[in-house]
Amino acid sequence: TVRTRFAPSPTGYLHIGGVRTALFSWLHARQQQGQFILRIEDTDLERSTPEATAAILEGMQWLGLDWDEGPFYQTQRMERYREVLAQMLAAGTAYHCYCSKEELDLMREEQRTRGEKPRYDGRCRQRPEARPGVSPVIRFRSPDSGETVVEDLVHGRVVFQNSELDDLIIARSDGTPTYNFCVVVDDWDMGITQVIRGDDHLNNTPRQMQILQALGASVPQYAHVPMILGPDKQKLSKRHGAVSVLEYREQGFLPDALLNFLVRLGWSHGDQEVFSRAEMIEHFRIGEVHKAASAFNPEKLLWLNAQHLQTLSAEELARQLRPYLVGLDDAAIAAGPAVEKVVPLLQERAKTLVDMAAAAKMFYVAPETAEEKDRSKHLAGQGALLQAAWHALEQVTDWTAGAVHTVLQALAQEHAEGKLGKVAQPLRVAVAGCAVSPPLDQTLAVLGREETLRRLRRAQD
Ligand code: GLU
Repeated sequence: TVRTRFAPSPTGYLHIGGVRTALFSWLHARQQQGQFILRIEDTDLERSTPEATAAILEGMQWLGLDWDEGPFYQTQRMERYREVLAQMLAAGTAYHCYCSKEELDLMREEQRTRGEKPRYDGRCRQRPEARPGVSPVIRFRSPDSGETVVEDLVHGRVVFQNSELDDLIIARSDGTPTYNFCVVVDDWDMGITQVIRGDDHLNNTPRQMQILQALGASVPQYAHVPMILGPDKQKLSKRHGAVSVLEYREQGFLPDALLNFLVRLGWSHGDQEVFSRAEMIEHFRIGEVHKAASAFNPEKLLWLNAQHLQTLSAEELARQLRPYLVGLDDAAIAAGPAVEKVVPLLQERAKTLVDMAAAAKMFYVAPETAEEKDRSKHLAGQGALLQAAWHALEQVTDWTAGAVHTVLQALAQEHAEGKLGKVAQPLRVAVAGCAVSPPLDQTLAVLGREETLRRLRRAQD
């Protein structure tokens, strides 16, 4: 069965480029009814932090990229790495190297004067005696000739000459295993069938394959996916805006919209733009991912988010919106209209949950005063209208958008030669505190009779 993994290093926030790699890996596993494994590559003790690990787990959970096994931590697998190192030393596929820094420097210097590319020449392969007082590193004995061929699912056939690859250090002199070695042991032990990762790792792949072969392990397939560029085609970085996935949550993006956006960077399915999670799983093919890097388009992300907001049911949207209603406690929300009643009014216009929360606020807190420019523009000299509106609305017993609409029309006849906008704007500013809101009849219907009347009265003070 298919087994894929996501193997982030917890050295910073979870970058959206990393999320895209995780998504591809997850989609491949889900589509093939396989397993998706999460592995935290925390062997770089200097740079790894528990906060970064927590942010990775939180980001993955928020996005709904659920894992079947893990999280595994490399720092908890040291025993296992040592065991495999001992096995390789015993089998002769790895050896101790006692070369000092001075010796290595001299070797490289000589190679350079001969016009050769500096590389470790394997001199300790033939020199098994220990040197007193020197703790050796362990090197992998790599093949001297032939080729290592990566049949990459994204890049196609990539050929490496074995003569170009020297004997890699797999354990440092303090005994700690190095990065490429840990990855190999993990991918082997975890039975990974497809390694899907960033293409900055393509050059590590022939070395990892050689070690797997030396271990008698089966070699997985590889898919190296390109990175994401900023709109200016430069490497995506902070100066392009948010790069941490949790910042996108803060900005009010839906997980499914962000995933939809990321899946379309470098992959397409006909001309379909909007994908539900189920559609992504159904249609995605790792082998169809383009090998060229793709540029991030923030406008498109906003557009997709708006599309996804419109597909949600009122209940689901209310649930998603709740954390964004900041400054509103449960009591304030309980005292106002049900959030499920409010969101359908806002669904069409909002691009993010943050926008929507801002627009929802007026349903729960009366505006202190209208914004000054709206006030002078729309409320000045409207005392008679506000009063008439209060009296007319006070008569309404069946408080629906239809009934409110009828009242508004009658007020327009009486006060504004039938022009509905002329009465709606002052009333909107009086009730909502600003000149922009969903259609007024629906807004008042949801706001409720009591609260509408209270706000109209207050606006007259
Ligand atoms: N830990 C590596 C990284 O964050 C990924 C290694 C891999 O996927 O093999 O770049």
